[in-house]
Amino acid sequence: MLLKKGDTVKILTGKDRGKKGKVLEVSPRTNRVVVENLNLRTRNVRARRQGEKGQRIQFAAPLHASNVMMVCPKCNRAARLGVQRTKDRLERVCRRCHETL
Ligand SMILES: [Zn+2]
Repeated sequence: MLLKKGDTVKILTGKDRGKKGKVLEVSPRTNRVVVENLNLRTRNVRARRQGEKGQRIQFAAPLHASNVMMVCPKCNRAARLGVQRTKDRLERVCRRCHETL
């Protein structure tokens, strides 16, 4: 998983296919990401107490990392990511423009 919080990604599948959004959460364990305002689901919540109203709550559902593609901030295109080893750490590299991210 090379995606990080704050990255911009493009959605490749589902009804939001082609849209871009910011990554809000990354869970490396399940390989899923939550993208701001995309892949929305609606949860219908019933009134629990009398006088309270039932509500429909919209939330961004996590989607698999393979269904999104990083949008490179340097060249502004959807790109695959590579890794490059420098002296003391690994860096992410855009495989289109070869800039480190
Ligand atoms: Zn790039």
